Amino acid sequence: EKTITIDQIEQAAQEAFDETKSLSGGVNAHYIPYLANIDPGLFGISITLLNGKCINIGDTSYRFGIESVSKVPTAILVMRQQGPEVLLNKIGADATGLPFNSIFAILLENDHPSTPLVNAGAISACSMVLPAGDSAGKWKAIVDNITELCGSAPVLIEQLYESESATNFNNRAIAWLLKNYNRIYDDVNMSLDLYTRQCSLGITSAQLAVMAATIANNGVNPVSGKAVFDEAITPKITSLIATVGFYEHTGDWLYTSGIPAKSGVGGGVIGVLPGVMGISAFAPPLDEAGNSVKAQAVMKSFVNKLELGIFNGN
Ligand code: GLN
Repeated sequence: EKTITIDQIEQAAQEAFDETKSLSGGVNAHYIPYLANIDPGLFGISITLLNGKCINIGDTSYRFGIESVSKVPTAILVMRQQGPEVLLNKIGADATGLPFNSIFAILLENDHPSTPLVNAGAISACSMVLPAGDSAGKWKAIVDNITELCGSAPVLIEQLYESESATNFNNRAIAWLLKNYNRIYDDVNMSLDLYTRQCSLGITSAQLAVMAATIANNGVNPVSGKAVFDEAITPKITSLIATVGFYEHTGDWLYTSGIPAKSGVGGGVIGVLPGVMGISAFAPPLDEAGNSVKAQAVMKSFVNKLELGIFNGN
């Protein structure tokens, strides 16, 4: 066990931020019109420690689209409602090695969507959320879960929701292919709409760091003090994140950073260091796999400075 002081953590975060703030490279998500128009210069890093202390540097109260980071809380919700075993059996926990929006995620393993952290499995997960058949009830469960994990509520970005709903043809195809293979457990269009809406929730990196810290803290939100989920879920969701959080770049990411992390095309990333802290970073320009260039750089720099990677054996 090595001891790191809060001062060391603050200093490493500030250094990582200063070193990476003028990095160029990447482009905003262009296939969702709303995201294409977000200021590409926004940048922030947030850290929440397990004693509840929050460190925020840069644009950490800017509300951006949560996008695929929402796949994490909804996978947690399905586990809260039905247990990790049901999630494994109905969706799976494997890497796909494929882009987030690949239809092949469904076909890889006996018509099984592989993991709730790619589009196919996430749409399937939305179909599993209870109460079945009740769109408003399911939406409330999804939002309440995120609110508990963050200790404050997300806010739907209506324009983003409209923008995504009008352009989500690939996801519609995925949803119907899932239906064909009996991997949609509720109404197809309702499940797709819930997925699209959860992706359109506005969130800040400060909020996401608290979510990551709640996961790192075995389900107890370290800021609100509320026990949100059973501690048995932390190793399950963290292994899902480690396996596929950066899609086809997941292995390279884990190899270079040592931190299980999940990205979204809104530019947000969460990183989970179980028993240690939660981290979030945000910057809109993305690499070719849809992962934020600067969020990756700042998080990697921070974690490597303190040698906090999970394989460092802290
Ligand atoms: N809403 C986006 C989509 O389904 C989310 C993708 C992502 O963040 N990787 O295409």
